[in-house]
Amino acid sequence: MATQADHKALNGLDSVQETLARLGVAEDADWMAVVLFARNLVSAMDIFTDDQKAQIQARIFEQMAKRPLDHRRFMGIVQNIQSFILENQRMEDMRAQLAAERQGFDALYVEMSRVFSEIQNSTVAREHRIKRLGADTEKDIVAAATPADVLSRLRGMITDMVSQAREEARTWQERAHQLEHTANFDPLLSELYSRRALDSQLSAALERCRRNNIPVSLLFLDVDRFKIINDTHGHQVGDGVLRVLAAILSAHAMQFSGYPARFGGEELVVLCEGLDEQRALAQAEEIRKDVARCPFVPHLTNPETVPPLHVTVSIGVAQIGPGQGASDLVLAADQAMYAAKSQGRNRVVGHSTLSTFRAT
Ligand code: GH3
Ligand code: MG
Ligand code: MG
Repeated sequence: MATQADHKALNGLDSVQETLARLGVAEDADWMAVVLFARNLVSAMDIFTDDQKAQIQARIFEQMAKRPLDHRRFMGIVQNIQSFILENQRMEDMRAQLAAERQGFDALYVEMSRVFSEIQNSTVAREHRIKRLGADTEKDIVAAATPADVLSRLRGMITDMVSQAREEARTWQERAHQLEHTANFDPLLSELYSRRALDSQLSAALERCRRNNIPVSLLFLDVDRFKIINDTHGHQVGDGVLRVLAAILSAHAMQFSGYPARFGGEELVVLCEGLDEQRALAQAEEIRKDVARCPFVPHLTNPETVPPLHVTVSIGVAQIGPGQGASDLVLAADQAMYAAKSQGRNRVVGHSTLSTFRAT
């Protein structure tokens, strides 16, 4: 049995070696790693709350209290630690975000592969046409009635080729637009710009507004209690809710020339060039009210059995300050959004009121 002293050693400053000796595994690198992990690394990890840290440490210690401390026990502890980390909410969010990024890349990859094979096909077709033109001309010259006849046939062939090339150019232009769309828009919420597009738009917008001395604000929107919607109705219904939300957001953004984007997961933003915080707050309030009024109808096989969902959002609003960069603006809007959450959700909070509130 492990003693209280062992427990203290795991958390306190007693030498690791001493603990290991007491547990009968002195000098064993694997077990030393486990003790160091429980004692130092877990405490330093900010993905866990203090409660969770205590839980991991207790779970490791519980395992170490059992005998024998062999390889099987070691692997058990490793598995325990792994499942703790993998089940962590922030890890899940990161995984969801990665999966979404991946989806975006996959869509882009599929489209680019298609474009490449089309380029290849069209090059082959063009080469074929040119070869035929050469062969046909030769035939025509041999069989030609008059030089004028050869010329008119040649002119016809060339006119055909030019109009085909023009048609091809038009198709390529369309394909380029499609590719640009796939690269710049979110794969799930196709009305919203992707995170990548947002990042470059943000820096361009800040530069423009600094040069022209006009304000820039950002709305940071997060769905309230979204996890409950997923847990109650499933992830697909959750996705459906996000699509309706994206439609509402982009319709509003269009009215004030805002740039609506998906920041990640269920967090959406609108970049507002030319709007100061007060005006952006007013727009955010309109969005909030519209979302709260809108009945979200889940797409289920039997819709009668599920009443329309009522979804609300919390929105943080911030305006860029002098000398601030894109990440300061995002952080400020995010902080205001968190304040909206802590003030009861389904509300809009401006970052400037937040600072005043803090300063007093
Ligand atoms: P809060 O009001 O504090 O924001 O509560 P919440 O439940 O919305 O917050 P939390 O951050 O705990 O949960 C957000 C959830 O959103 C967790 C994640 O699984 C889910 N989510 C993120 N992206 C998507 C997505 O693309 N589709 C679906 N269906 N769910 C998503
Ligand atoms: Mg969130
Ligand atoms: Mg949320």
